[in-house]
Amino acid sequence: MTTPALISLDGIKQLRFANIFSKKKEVEIWTNEKLRLDESKCVIKGSFTKVISVLEKSKKERKCKFIGYDDLDGIIKKSLSEKKEAEEKLSSFSDGKIDRVVVVGEGLKIADEVAEEVVRIPFTTVRETAIRIKDAGIKYILFSAGLQNRAIAPRIAVELDCGLCADCIGIKRDLNELRFLRPANCENVIAEISIEGKFAMATVREKEDSVGKVVFGIGYGAKDRIEDIEKLAKKYGAEIVASRKVVDEGLIDYEKQVGLTGKIISPAVYVAFGISGEIQHIVGIENSTTVIAINKDKDAKIFGYSDYGILCTL
Ligand SMILES: Cc1cc2nc3c(=O)[nH]c(=O)nc-3n(C[C@H](O)[C@H](O)[C@H](O)COP(=O)(O)OP(=O)(O)OC[C@H]3O[C@@H](n4cnc5c(N)ncnc54)[C@H](O)[C@@H]3O)c2cc1C
Repeated sequence: MTTPALISLDGIKQLRFANIFSKKKEVEIWTNEKLRLDESKCVIKGSFTKVISVLEKSKKERKCKFIGYDDLDGIIKKSLSEKKEAEEKLSSFSDGKIDRVVVVGEGLKIADEVAEEVVRIPFTTVRETAIRIKDAGIKYILFSAGLQNRAIAPRIAVELDCGLCADCIGIKRDLNELRFLRPANCENVIAEISIEGKFAMATVREKEDSVGKVVFGIGYGAKDRIEDIEKLAKKYGAEIVASRKVVDEGLIDYEKQVGLTGKIISPAVYVAFGISGEIQHIVGIENSTTVIAINKDKDAKIFGYSDYGILCTL
């Protein structure tokens, strides 16, 4: 981030300096006697966003059954034909839509489910966009949670002096209010959040279109087999995604990264090729109905998150 910047820390006893070339300096402590911040605007009292409830995410228990590579085709076809488990319905507007919302920029299909009228405001500059939002006089302002919007939205929220709920996965209606659902605690729980104030902003993840489909995940262990895997993917109309290590290496584009710092997918079948199964990857794929892992290491963590395992060298 650019400086000066305000960083709030909780429970950190010692600050770590950036690298060995940084000079250690005495840490100056500023209290509010020096900062003179309006205390009604600090900590929870000052927050526009309030957590209304926290839901445990229901996790599918998986027991890995080891199969041979030749069984892969049969298992993919079988898994596709099985009836998909009822999906957790996160967005609900059975009591009707609210009147109007603003969407800044492109996309965000969910906006049409939320409101009777969707007013679209293109992004120009932070200040100009904030003025146009003010002029529209509509409380709820939504953005799709893309990389660019994750940077723009907080700056517009500062201009509007309003709350922002970032990276939501669903929206609910409560009387005339919208409630935003966002993952917390490493995607293990879902927090339901309300936003007080004249304006309320949220960045919302686009619904991904992998539902009901086959997705192939390329890990570092499959980095030399990308072409073969892409060929195989064509057979099932499968989308290709990748682990962060493969993306960091520049082998696959960032848009395809799955996991904590990538996208979350929930396909009918996820096939992990040469992926170790670190939790930061798993959070992106654990909603898949069937997970099949191919790995040469029998102790690879990925097998603990899979329905089927294939022990082989790719
Ligand atoms: C803050 C943070 C955020 C992160 N966000 C993400 C994220 O969004 N997404 C993500 O994926 N990761 C993320 N990571 C990184 C994550 O922790 C792992 O480092 C990464 O997922 C590992 O990628 P991998 O499984 O492809 O590679 P590796 O860990 O190198 O695993 C390769 C696997 O392939 C197997 N293998 C090797 N060769 C073969 C072969 N020839 N045939 C078969 N198997 C083979 C190995 O046994 C091993 O299990 C994040 C990490 C941090 C700290």
